[in-house]
Amino acid sequence: MTSPRAVLLPPDDRTGVGPLLPLESLTAPAFRGFFDNLGVGGVQISTDGRFLQVNQRFIELTGYPREQLLEMRVGDLDHPDDREPDRERWDAFLHDPAVKYDVEKRYVRRDGSTIWVHVTAARIPMSGEQVTIAKTVEDVTERVLATHALREREQRLREALAVKEEFLGMVSHELRTPLTVILGLANVVARNGSSHAQVQRTVLEIRESAEHLASLLESMLVLARVGEEAPELEPILIDRVAMRAVDRHREVFPNRKIGVKVRTSTPLVDGHEPWIAHVISNKLGNAEKYSPGKGRISVIVDRDEADVCVRVLDEGRGIADEDMPHIFEAFYRAAHAVKDSGGLGLGLAVCKRLIDLQGGEVWAQAREGSGAEFGFSLPALDAED
Ligand code: ADP
Repeated sequence: MTSPRAVLLPPDDRTGVGPLLPLESLTAPAFRGFFDNLGVGGVQISTDGRFLQVNQRFIELTGYPREQLLEMRVGDLDHPDDREPDRERWDAFLHDPAVKYDVEKRYVRRDGSTIWVHVTAARIPMSGEQVTIAKTVEDVTERVLATHALREREQRLREALAVKEEFLGMVSHELRTPLTVILGLANVVARNGSSHAQVQRTVLEIRESAEHLASLLESMLVLARVGEEAPELEPILIDRVAMRAVDRHREVFPNRKIGVKVRTSTPLVDGHEPWIAHVISNKLGNAEKYSPGKGRISVIVDRDEADVCVRVLDEGRGIADEDMPHIFEAFYRAAHAVKDSGGLGLGLAVCKRLIDLQGGEVWAQAREGSGAEFGFSLPALDAED
């Protein structure tokens, strides 16, 4: 029978398999050559962690010269975050022969860079009771980083999927509400017996719900189009757009006190009119939704050196400090909004997107006293430009 303590010599030409020779026949220089030319790092260490031997590959892996390594302890190479857990595993391995040491952890190289290594250890009985430890150390950085990247991507996908599911749930709810209203009201109109005035009122309500539905769909489309560029921009008198938006608002909410103040004679910007109209209407809609019926809504068109600014002011509850950093994020809604009113939290995200695409900026702030200010600015276009 072949002795288990054996080495494999180079393959035989005919059989392709090398004869096995007893390990004892391996001379010290031969072992040295074998050890030094291993494709993985190899070290021999004392049970208190001092390096006794290190091979060439280990020197390359760590970046330290042999002499310096022989003055170090094996734990010195461990990444600070891995030291504590590794010390526990190492102690268990030293004290219990049944425990294996087979770990992946990080080393900090001499130049400060971090690598991932796969380390295995085995006891080597020496004379008497003495043992030393042989370790193999393999650089597995590429594999570990690829695995981490894969895991991160998986995690992001899972999050995106969760957001999508939540989004679909909210969307179907939000779309169903105006649709139900439209269907209900259409049935009322279809029934004979309503007066002309009643029919007219109902048709207006149907239009309101249909507009809400259309704007929801529009918002989703805007946010879904990633990397979209602005269409050809053209000179626009922004005060006109603001006035038209306010007129439309008055038609739908005739009891609201609402007005436009134009404080510049040159409210000219380079923009895309339907987008600007959408942004102003959205802010008016929010002012309507988040301020009491008797509060005033004011639209102020102004300009400074470089920009034309539009601010929509209301006398509602304003914006809490904790909501301020988030209100332009898609799907973000303040707790009071979730409790008191419907909405997807998309309106402001869409406004920001549309204004960004036209080279402008959006902002929100609480007004002194009470109420909120929602504004945007677009680069001004001087008449002679
Ligand atoms: P939605 O109105 O569907 O919630 P928006 O994106 O338009 O979505 O608004 C995001 C959040 O910003 C709202 O949920 C609300 O908390 C806050 N907000 C927007 N406009 C106002 C306003 N005029 N006053 C107070 N809070 C507002």
